[in-house]
Amino acid sequence: MHDSVLIARSDLSNLVLVAPAAFKGSFGPRAVADAIAAGVRRAAPEATVLLCPVADGGDGLLDAVLPPGSLRERVQASGPLGTPVAAELGWVDPETAILESSTACGLALLTPEQRDPLRTTTRGVGELLWEAVDRGARTVVVGMGGSATVDGGTGAARGFGWTFQDGGGAPLAEGGGALADLASCASGWGLEAQVVALADVTTPLVGPEGAAPVFGPQKGATVESVARLAAGLDRLAALMARQGHPELATLPGGGAAGGLGAGLVFFAGARIVPGAAWVLDRVGFDAALAKADLVITGEGALDRTSRVGKATGEVIRRAEAARKRVAVVAGRVEDGAGLAAYGGDGATLDAAAIAASGPRATRSGCPRLPLRLNFRVLMPENLMDKLVSLAKRRGFVFQSSEIYGGLGSVWDYGPLGVELKKNIKERWWRSMVHEREDIEGLDAAILMHPKVWEASGHVAGFTDPLVDCKHCKNRFRADDPRIKGTPGQPDAQCPVCGTKGTLTAPRQFNLMFKTFMGPVEEDAAVIFMRPETAQGIYVNYLNVLQSSRQKIPFGIAQIGKAFRNEITPGNFIFRTREFEQMEMQFFVKPGSEGEWFEFWRAERLKWLQGLGIRPEKMRWHQHGKDELAHYAEDAYDIEYEFPFGWHEFEGIHNRTDFDLKNHQQHSGKKLEYLDAATNERFIPYVVETSAGADRTTLVVLCDAYREEEVQGEQRVVLKLAPALAPLKAAVFPLVNKDGMPELSRKIYDELRRHFNVFYDDGGSIGRRYRRQDEAGTPFGITIDGQSTQDQTVTVRDRDTLQQVRVGAAKLVSYLKDKLAG
Ligand code: ATP
Repeated sequence: MHDSVLIARSDLSNLVLVAPAAFKGSFGPRAVADAIAAGVRRAAPEATVLLCPVADGGDGLLDAVLPPGSLRERVQASGPLGTPVAAELGWVDPETAILESSTACGLALLTPEQRDPLRTTTRGVGELLWEAVDRGARTVVVGMGGSATVDGGTGAARGFGWTFQDGGGAPLAEGGGALADLASCASGWGLEAQVVALADVTTPLVGPEGAAPVFGPQKGATVESVARLAAGLDRLAALMARQGHPELATLPGGGAAGGLGAGLVFFAGARIVPGAAWVLDRVGFDAALAKADLVITGEGALDRTSRVGKATGEVIRRAEAARKRVAVVAGRVEDGAGLAAYGGDGATLDAAAIAASGPRATRSGCPRLPLRLNFRVLMPENLMDKLVSLAKRRGFVFQSSEIYGGLGSVWDYGPLGVELKKNIKERWWRSMVHEREDIEGLDAAILMHPKVWEASGHVAGFTDPLVDCKHCKNRFRADDPRIKGTPGQPDAQCPVCGTKGTLTAPRQFNLMFKTFMGPVEEDAAVIFMRPETAQGIYVNYLNVLQSSRQKIPFGIAQIGKAFRNEITPGNFIFRTREFEQMEMQFFVKPGSEGEWFEFWRAERLKWLQGLGIRPEKMRWHQHGKDELAHYAEDAYDIEYEFPFGWHEFEGIHNRTDFDLKNHQQHSGKKLEYLDAATNERFIPYVVETSAGADRTTLVVLCDAYREEEVQGEQRVVLKLAPALAPLKAAVFPLVNKDGMPELSRKIYDELRRHFNVFYDDGGSIGRRYRRQDEAGTPFGITIDGQSTQDQTVTVRDRDTLQQVRVGAAKLVSYLKDKLAG
């Protein structure tokens, strides 16, 4: 992880207290505190830094309160769906165990689709409690945080014999089983240990027709959702009272529905204490605070309403009471897209904006500080995460429909991304169509006659065999390398829940998206979104042949969208449900396909190397007999070493006469070729080159991404081949006065007529360079004081960092030379 914070001003206080909570989903409190502290130390080596990670009882509790080196034992427990998860028991001392219920039953363990509290269980917390006692604990501290407390609510309710119905009146599946059992021993368990439950929020309620829609993020709760929640609580409290359990309506922490407070912990006779206060006391916060001149605090997912989370709120409250200066850092991991942070107004800022601005989010009422902090992005180690984050930050790729929570595995290309992908496609088109006499271009429609897909074999054969786990309900491709044993047999082991013998035998699943043509949704009107562009070429083969007067061998090339309802999409734009293909079908005389196959293999590799992709990162993979697609006789993939391993991004396939023969048969239209020289008739064989525009874009991005140290500073740079770079140059007036902006504008306007260039006059010149390094812009043109005197500018090379002075009048030809290729 990088240092997350750099203190720009050297006049820092001598004693800095760093007290952050977990950055949810990414780093624990200690890791975040370490990262911030490292940044502070670097900027102000003389300052003494006190580390004081905090938590409110939820995520990161163990991390915050257990000193490094403490005993932490891994214990298997039932997760939120009743399937095993690895939880932890930490030991404060030999008689005091501590556990986070969020790792045993937390909603964070579930995917958004699974996150239905009516189906989840808190059984794991009970198991951990007993485990701790078995191992000798006299006191067990249970961190309940917020979200972990909600999921058991209905379990208790079920214990009273209630059933839950969905909106349509159908009963909901069983969940929360442990609480149902517990409800029968309302006098308590007689546990031989004292249980201390840490909880900070009133548990949002899940109840009949009630508050379920609002249970979610307490920290993000809106005024309306809180009102709905309160109404739900009232209703459930009334229900509880009618059922003869008024005590369950008023328990703290667990809420009336019977979350942990009313369930496990209640039955264990727990003492419920405010989590953040307990943690701060335990880590000696007040003593550290007394010494501190400045407190830096913060956490992930700050509450948009109150501006601060619970632990952070407590830190600020105490710091303010002690009249200390406070700076608040906030971040959130967005779908692997890296951290965003909240500004003081509650808006989400991106990392660049944070870097460009001063003090960060503060609770309303908490004074903004005169202190200037420069924030460096807290980056996950994983290259893929970094890339996704950079892609979003710089406007390459955004998640589709992000404001609605995103659409699974569908991505949108932003201002820079669309240029990059377009440059790749244009290069492909130039080399495959314009530079070759024997290839013609085509743009066939996405929607095609349904019979096309019968002829092509897609209706019958375009399926990925899948297996289901009967236990945890997850679904996998049958060839998932994580599966041990043979699916369908007792030896097969589920890669997620680890259960043996619960995987079904492989079943077929059609990957084509279906829709209806015309106003009536009936079987006869079913139409498919094409899963590959190739068929558009085959059905136009005769048209192109006749209209272009080509002779065999010749090819048809096309770039276009394809759609596959992939079962295991993912890895950013690697495997998506909507993507673009760049395909070329080369029609040859039967018997010559072997030769052409080799020809196109060599050509394609050469083309990729021309994109600047490092040769050592690419390799060939020949399909084994069991891997070949239904149409192929021979196939080679070109694989790239992605951060997640070697994978295909382009394929060269010998498709024989499979497709044309089938189309001839299904359409009744003769698709034979007449060789005028020999008077021979034959159905041509096809050698196909099939590349994904999106996957190739990902390869180009992965290959270009570098982190470097330049003059003692870290920089992230995309070393894109200049021909592919979205922006070719950026124009910077050194300062916004003394005639520099005017001259810069003039130069910018002139360059814009030839290249895609960018004008940037915001922030220090170093920061402007860094922004363009991340965008992969090969040249930075700075207009300085000398420029207005002698009409020369400096041109900085992104890769070598060398700067040369060039006459403004010669810039266009200078850049043209440099960009050629
Ligand atoms: P995979 O097994 O990785 O899904 P595939 O073997 O089915 O790919 P082909 O049918 O040969 O792929 O498609 C040719 C190219 O189209 C691939 O090399 C890839 O670049 C691209 N491609 C295929 N499926 C997808 C997808 N779901 N998302 C993005 N690109 C894809």
